Amino acid sequence: MKRGLLIIMSGPSGVGKGTLRQMIMENKELNLYFSVSLTTRLPRAGEQDGVDYYFVSEEKFKEDLANGNLLESNYFVSHYYGTPKDKTEEMRNKGVNVLLEIDVNGARQVMDNCGEDDKPLSFFILPPSLEALEARIRGRRSEPEDVIQERLSKAKREMSESVHYTHSVVNDNLDVAAEEIISFIKKEIDKEL
Ligand code: 5GP
Repeated sequence: MKRGLLIIMSGPSGVGKGTLRQMIMENKELNLYFSVSLTTRLPRAGEQDGVDYYFVSEEKFKEDLANGNLLESNYFVSHYYGTPKDKTEEMRNKGVNVLLEIDVNGARQVMDNCGEDDKPLSFFILPPSLEALEARIRGRRSEPEDVIQERLSKAKREMSESVHYTHSVVNDNLDVAAEEIISFIKKEIDKEL
């Protein structure tokens, strides 16, 4: 059986990655599993444990990290985030394509650690403009000003990393951006057959 693809999606916070991810996951032809990350931050309204993230204590996170259970990890705006390694491997070995929604530091770790013949397909989601991104982050109204400023400055730094990804997609229109990503994934799946 052909091993499943590893697909990375990154982009500045507030760019619409979460919504795009849900739209992509709805396409059953892609045979995708969304890798649920561990995080030490608190859930936002509507987020569910085990669905959006596994919300864990810092102690549990550090234990998993020390035991080599994470494929990659990062510290972002005062919290840890990481991808469980076992589940990713298990699904890929079953032929299921695995989607990671991770930040640029985590993506770098995955890209640097994979073999030449096992390069992930990677998408960097760009906002139509920085002004549009700021409006989206503020519109979420869930965070204090210093956190918003930190997220914005990180976004600017992150955007320069888009060159390391196999694809850059501008999220000006959700349907168009989702279709673009879906068609790139389909092309890759067809290549593997
Ligand atoms: P948020 O707090 O907005 O859900 O996520 C903050 C940032 O962490 C986003 O850029 C998101 O993609 C990233 N992130 C989420 N899960 C992981 C993970 O497992 N590893 C890494 N490196 N970044 C993650």
